[in-house]
Amino acid sequence: PIVDAVDVRDVDSVCPYCGVGCAVTVHATDDTILAVSGRESPVNHERLCVKGRYGWDYALHPQRLTKPLIRREEYYPKGPLSPEVQDSDSRTKSKSKPGGIVDYDTVLPAFREATWDEALDLVASRFKAIRDERGGDALAGFGSAKCSNEEAYLFQKLIRAVFRTNNVDHCTRLCHASSVAALMETIGSGAVTNVFADVARADVALLTGSHAGANHPVAATFMKEAVKNGTKLIVVDVRRHDLVDFATHFAQIHSGSDVAFYNAVMHVLITEDLVDHDFIKARTEGFPELRELVLRDFSPEQTEPMCGVAAEEIREIARTIGRAGSMLVFWGMGIAQHTTGTDNARCLISLCLMTGNMGRPGTGLHPLRGQNNVQGASDAGLIPMVYPDYQPVTNKDIRQKFEQAWGVELSPDPGLTVVEITHAALQGDIAGMYVLGENPFVSDPNTNKVRGALANLDFLVVQDIFLTETAEFADVILPASSYFEKTGTFTNTDRRVQVGRQVLDPPGEARADWQITAEIASRMGYPMDYASPAEIFEEFAGLTKNYQRLTHERLGATGKLWPCTHPETEDGAQILFGDKFPTPNGRGKFVPCPFLPADELPNDEYPFVLTTGRVLEHWHTGTMTRRSRALNALQPDAFVVVHPQDLSQLGISGEELVRVSSRRGTIVLAARSDNTVSPGTIFIPFHFREAAANVLTTDALDPYGKIPEFKFCAVKIDAAV
Ligand code: SF4
Repeated sequence: PIVDAVDVRDVDSVCPYCGVGCAVTVHATDDTILAVSGRESPVNHERLCVKGRYGWDYALHPQRLTKPLIRREEYYPKGPLSPEVQDSDSRTKSKSKPGGIVDYDTVLPAFREATWDEALDLVASRFKAIRDERGGDALAGFGSAKCSNEEAYLFQKLIRAVFRTNNVDHCTRLCHASSVAALMETIGSGAVTNVFADVARADVALLTGSHAGANHPVAATFMKEAVKNGTKLIVVDVRRHDLVDFATHFAQIHSGSDVAFYNAVMHVLITEDLVDHDFIKARTEGFPELRELVLRDFSPEQTEPMCGVAAEEIREIARTIGRAGSMLVFWGMGIAQHTTGTDNARCLISLCLMTGNMGRPGTGLHPLRGQNNVQGASDAGLIPMVYPDYQPVTNKDIRQKFEQAWGVELSPDPGLTVVEITHAALQGDIAGMYVLGENPFVSDPNTNKVRGALANLDFLVVQDIFLTETAEFADVILPASSYFEKTGTFTNTDRRVQVGRQVLDPPGEARADWQITAEIASRMGYPMDYASPAEIFEEFAGLTKNYQRLTHERLGATGKLWPCTHPETEDGAQILFGDKFPTPNGRGKFVPCPFLPADELPNDEYPFVLTTGRVLEHWHTGTMTRRSRALNALQPDAFVVVHPQDLSQLGISGEELVRVSSRRGTIVLAARSDNTVSPGTIFIPFHFREAAANVLTTDALDPYGKIPEFKFCAVKIDAAV
């Protein structure tokens, strides 16, 4: 045993961070966690990254919320209570308050403690009043990809059946919404076709727009292993990262040029006859239209100036792909978070269809999912246009099925997405919101607009484990349970449904999230009586095709991949779509994509391109990892990565404080001289409230996936003093 002492319990669970979903064993006493170790599973073979191994102590942090809080009268009208994000100096702020993101001394006095009865009655009565006076569409809910499947299912059921609106969404909208839009349109399913470990059987792995080493570290170890055993790795990215050292080809493209680059690769595949004619004929439609576009507009020579990759290198990459017996494509936010995110994903899908890389070992499409349950939260229906299992709210028969199951009439209109909800709140069209486990004030684009929207709400309920930046705008704050204090299922990037098991009791009066949601529903006149998460899972699974036959018990120690026909004896489907796609005619569809520029291009005043993302040690808005001692010590401060040539032209030395401004705001943070970016491009991680990258980002949306363009906006840099 890792920890050998009296009274230590070993609880098998799953890592609370990324979509890899590593199996862990938590070593705990009755009231504390001592250590976390990796467990044998097809997902991680006992491996863990630094977050999974050391990032658990946030659950024991003294700033945990332990009682319901209600805003005091004198703190209206609402606004941010901590210092303004733009005015901050990240180095002094974060060092003076280690791990403290929100200034608790300033913020807590705005709230008074309340009993659960008082808080829940207030929540239920205010939501009910808004619904009855203004209609259900004046309400909205943000769930979270940190919720279990059971919590996500119940949350969307509350919004749909009790609030009477489809205005329910979560951070998938900021993550792979565009990928899912493209996948649903072209191959009829938004999930991965092959598990990531299948890279071991691929002749070629294409990793694009993904820093897997930082964001999916254990999955990256499978890629590195595959390379050592002969797989050729092609990396296409705006930034250089650690997996480039393992790559046969590295194409450092200009941000926003993915469509041009992949169209040029397809141009070469067609002109050099490296496509799979049999597959195209038997399994696809729309090839002639795509062929015409890429042959006309995207020769490597035409494309070189658009994407910054030499024509001959484009040809070599295309030949490596075209001559391979199998290719598996992995992608991340670098593909998805653009106003052309859906087009970017359509191109990757076309690339696989054209080369027949589908439905076999070592082939297919794997959008690497970000959060530990972003796949599951989407499967469970935390999406405004679909019920659980992607069943459209606009389909009358499907709607009737859910109306019958839930015993209420449901809205036939698709709801608003995350950023659309913010815009509607700003205009006063959304009056009440229930935010469960998300922190839009830091995670969503164009912070100043989000601030206005949150302050403009008549009634905001935030349910979380810490007083988040978003909670500063709340009318009521409900103390929830951390990952280690509840049991539920989580679906990883592979579609593997695993059970996360309770280790500790919630602190103080904090409660399990599903119990809080059920209480609000019941107090609004819609009784929700469940004995356990397993019972909620049963109801959810019964309304789906993909989770049918799965139960908590059948998931066992290492979970099952959906779909799973015989969960008693099988692990589930490793590879999907071997003979046909779940589209109306069974064929995969080519969608031609002309090149469109990013929404906001650099000019003389704002000459740099900003791209945002994550670092290995931190997680999203930092509520968890910045309260983890080891992780915060490793990466305590915000920074901006700038190419040394740009810094020297600006007369700024490395490590100096700089002011970065866009048309939407300014932040001050430390410059880091680093040639992983190209001259003219800068990178800022978005974890740090005191130098919040999203003050700068644009809320322009992809028209299909409605995902904001986090990966491209125009900025300028000046010395801070
Ligand atoms: Fe957790 Fe992801 Fe790291 Fe695995 S790779 S330990 S799931 S953060």
